[in-house]
Amino acid sequence: MKKNASRSFDVLIIGSGLAGQSLALRLADTHRVALVTKKTLADSASSWAQGGIAAVIDPTDSIDAHVADTHTAGAELCNPQATRFVIEHSRDAVEWLIQRGVPFTQDDSATGFHLTREGGHGQRRILHAADATGNAVQTTLTQLVQEHPNITVLEQHIAVDLITAAKLGQATNRCLGAYVLDIARDQVVTIGAGHTVLATGGIGKVYLYTSNPDTATGDGVAMAWRAGCRVANMEFIQFHPTCLYHPHAKSFLISEAMRGEGGLLRLPDGTRFMPKHDVRAELAPRDIVARAIDFEMKRHGLDCVYLDMTHKPADFLKEHFPNILAHCLDLGIDITREPIPVVPAAHYACGGIVTDLSAHTDVNGLYAIGETAFTGLHGANRLASNSLLECLVFAASAAEHIRTATAEPLPPLPEWDESRVSDADEMVVISHNWAELRRFMWDYVGIVRTNKRLERAQHRIKLLEREIAEYYENFRVSNDLIELRNLVLTAHLIVKSAQRRHESRGLHFSRDYPDAFPRALDTVLHPRGQS
Ligand SMILES: Cc1cc2nc3c(=O)[nH]c(=O)nc-3n(C[C@H](O)[C@H](O)[C@H](O)COP(=O)(O)OP(=O)(O)OC[C@H]3O[C@@H](n4cnc5c(N)ncnc54)[C@H](O)[C@@H]3O)c2cc1C
Repeated sequence: MKKNASRSFDVLIIGSGLAGQSLALRLADTHRVALVTKKTLADSASSWAQGGIAAVIDPTDSIDAHVADTHTAGAELCNPQATRFVIEHSRDAVEWLIQRGVPFTQDDSATGFHLTREGGHGQRRILHAADATGNAVQTTLTQLVQEHPNITVLEQHIAVDLITAAKLGQATNRCLGAYVLDIARDQVVTIGAGHTVLATGGIGKVYLYTSNPDTATGDGVAMAWRAGCRVANMEFIQFHPTCLYHPHAKSFLISEAMRGEGGLLRLPDGTRFMPKHDVRAELAPRDIVARAIDFEMKRHGLDCVYLDMTHKPADFLKEHFPNILAHCLDLGIDITREPIPVVPAAHYACGGIVTDLSAHTDVNGLYAIGETAFTGLHGANRLASNSLLECLVFAASAAEHIRTATAEPLPPLPEWDESRVSDADEMVVISHNWAELRRFMWDYVGIVRTNKRLERAQHRIKLLEREIAEYYENFRVSNDLIELRNLVLTAHLIVKSAQRRHESRGLHFSRDYPDAFPRALDTVLHPRGQS
């Protein structure tokens, strides 16, 4: 590894999804911004978002109606203040994107935009760019980011840990920047900043099956926890019911519209199972379908179940689902003749780093925005298309807070110390532990939980934590080691949160506590033990 290097900026943003890029653009006219991202600017869940962004722009819609839909989805756990705050700012948020040139699908309605309606929304209020909204948004913003002279983009750079005054032994804590591994040069860079922002996205890779990109390894939650921030509601993980099950199909979603168009879920012997779980059968809400599939897979020891569209005419499938048809055909599955193997997949984390309405965390100078943050908006279950909105609104409020905050001068920051480590001898330790973690999190901390399963997971996490801590102390950091260390800590926090909740609510379902308490409370974990 080469000699370390140091750089400093007014603002360090870690993550280039919608949260990170929109914040960078909002600040760049007045601040020198570093935008650090562990792959390329384009690698993010934001780029993959299909449906759209919820916002109150139609004259027949209202803030109260959107707030009410969000509360209903959130199973009475949404923070009323945060929910109203986000939805009151929804129009400004999407107008900001429109002004930047995002090509949302238009029509000749009063708003000029075609609005769709998704599950849980009582109104048409989803702005979209055909069926690839995230890609349209991110492509537009990325071009602006690349053109802005005040934004330094550092691709293939993965943040290892935050630098705080407390870690340097100072009495008053604040965030001073981060240590970042430049992957191509194999060099840890010290980046100092008056304001540091975690925009690192989700945690899906903690589970065997996920709709998330490879970047979703819980890095923000883990770094914030190690820096002394509270995290909350980590037990609420939204599972998408149908992800393609195939060794070469990573994270490919089979749209819920297929069930809407008559798709039937079957066991390998062809038996339909949804009618015995819910009177609405395949048309039951997302979490009920995911739970039923999980139940059948665990009961029969199955690797997957099947979504059958073979009773629909081939021309209908070609017309309505051309992408799914083509993708499956590439993998040797002709969906006009054979059922599609599917599994539920971890899709969205409702919990995260505790933040206030300015996106500020418990540590001075440290902000968290987007999926890594816990703002209180989603409660126990996310309303579709509210997450991109949350990215935009809290990026705007973080920008506002940063603009008005006084940045204290930075003290000299110590360089990354690797004097006592050597090159890793056996990478198999990392790959084995990674696979083991994702498998047991899927089996024991998935859609349906029990006390026993959570205990089993907790026991295994302790063993992994010990092994990884030893590895981290003795060997040079690498991309995989950084991610695995963060995944294990994230898993620890999910299990701990699930163990604290002695009820079933929203996305958290426990066989030992099947009922909901009369009063809904957040699960807040404190790094120093208090909750
Ligand atoms: C398939 C799919 C479809 C979806 N559809 C919708 C939809 O239609 N509407 C909606 O509202 N929501 C949707 N969601 C959810 C939504 O896309 C995400 O919640 C949102 O994009 C999160 O944005 P973000 O900026 O917080 O994180 P991301 O967009 O995931 O970006 C995180 C960034 O952080 C970087 N990063 C992570 N760790 C580090 C580190 N240690 N160092 C450096 N960089 C790091 C990553 O590389 C990435 O660039 C969907 C999600 C998926 C997976």
